[in-house]
Amino acid sequence: MTSVATRGARDLETFASEAEKWLATAVPARWRENRGRLAGKESDALRREWDRMLWKGGYSGLSIPAKFGGRGLGLAEEVVFHVLAGKVQAPDGFTRVGKTLVAPMLIKSGTPGQRETYLPPMMRGEEVWCQGFSEPEAGSDLAGIQTRARPVEGGYLLTGRKVWTSFAQHAQRCLVLAQTQPDAGRYRNLTMLLVDMAQPGITISDIRQISGAVHFAEVRFDDVFVSADDRVGADGEGWQVAMRVLGDERGGVETASRYVEIRSDLDLLLETVGDRPELAGHLRNLDVRAELLRWQLAKVVDREADADSAFQRSASVLKVMWSELWQDVTRLGLSTAPHTHREHWRYQYLEARAVSIYSGTNEIQRNILSERILGLPR
Ligand SMILES: Cc1cc2nc3c(=O)[nH]c(=O)nc-3n(C[C@H](O)[C@H](O)[C@H](O)COP(=O)(O)OP(=O)(O)OC[C@H]3O[C@@H](n4cnc5c(N)ncnc54)[C@H](O)[C@@H]3O)c2cc1C
Repeated sequence: MTSVATRGARDLETFASEAEKWLATAVPARWRENRGRLAGKESDALRREWDRMLWKGGYSGLSIPAKFGGRGLGLAEEVVFHVLAGKVQAPDGFTRVGKTLVAPMLIKSGTPGQRETYLPPMMRGEEVWCQGFSEPEAGSDLAGIQTRARPVEGGYLLTGRKVWTSFAQHAQRCLVLAQTQPDAGRYRNLTMLLVDMAQPGITISDIRQISGAVHFAEVRFDDVFVSADDRVGADGEGWQVAMRVLGDERGGVETASRYVEIRSDLDLLLETVGDRPELAGHLRNLDVRAELLRWQLAKVVDREADADSAFQRSASVLKVMWSELWQDVTRLGLSTAPHTHREHWRYQYLEARAVSIYSGTNEIQRNILSERILGLPR
């Protein structure tokens, strides 16, 4: 990644103005007209197409080094692009898990062969990845997963059940954490595998969310062959690799997209119920919290922070901040908004329920904060 010192504010301004121009014409009209609320096959096709358009437009893998197929820019460009894309309600493609979790992990821990095989199609938007970590009995307690990968000649046979696997229905590949050494003891018994979703023995069942959307699925593996070449790190090193992936997952870029959505919801509230004196204190509180979030993002854009900075390290703080703010905004919207906006608030309220659960629940984020940042005893 180019260092902060060698990139100036003018470069970022140029980048922002080019990105703005590109976004103005690139976002498909059907998507824009429907405020991103298209469902089913039409939505899936547009989102897939968006991934390819990002590549063709030069906006895929902005902070991934160019030698791995990305653009070789920094966190500031990622944040700026996500804010601009959010403002024009650009589609959310299916390649998010690949680009934000798998790619950085392969760059840090993969083999040259794995990078060559998997990064280019991911950047081109041709291969979608999903993340197979959580299981019915192991979410927060990730080290307790039961999926087994039995060593066989040339690789492993994978058997088990993963749940809440986002994008699994669309994925060509899955990053799977599995037990390979049942007797090795907690944390030393796990291995990270890159699984081809076209292998025989994989069953995917949709899970419908309370909002009606289908963003994730249950994935069953029944003696699925995984080549030893598709193991990341050594056998038994899966926990360390998983922690690196989760570090990126709790990273700050999602804050940028979410900030735009929260700001837009808050503006709608101010427009529709902003003149009600009994809500004035509540609205002011939400507005101040949104400003704090914007301020955090501005620090990145103003180059006071970059990938290895406090911004990235304080990802748990950001996650708690934006998720609870969005839930509070949608709760107020649902309970006070005029009936003309009721459908909007119903959907947003239900969607916002998930954000304090995924990428590690807010209780887990608070545990991380208290133990690793504040140094409090367990
Ligand atoms: C929209 C969405 C998308 C998701 N996508 C994926 C995906 O793509 N891949 C994937 O692998 N997983 C995914 N998940 C799963 C997600 O990571 C888990 O739901 C999450 O880690 C919580 O695990 P759990 O659901 O098993 O809850 P549990 O771990 O059973 O937790 C239940 C409750 O107990 C609390 N709790 C548990 N342990 C502690 C503790 N030590 N201290 C304090 N409180 C605790 C939790 O905070 C929670 O409130 C997704 C989830 C959602 C909602």
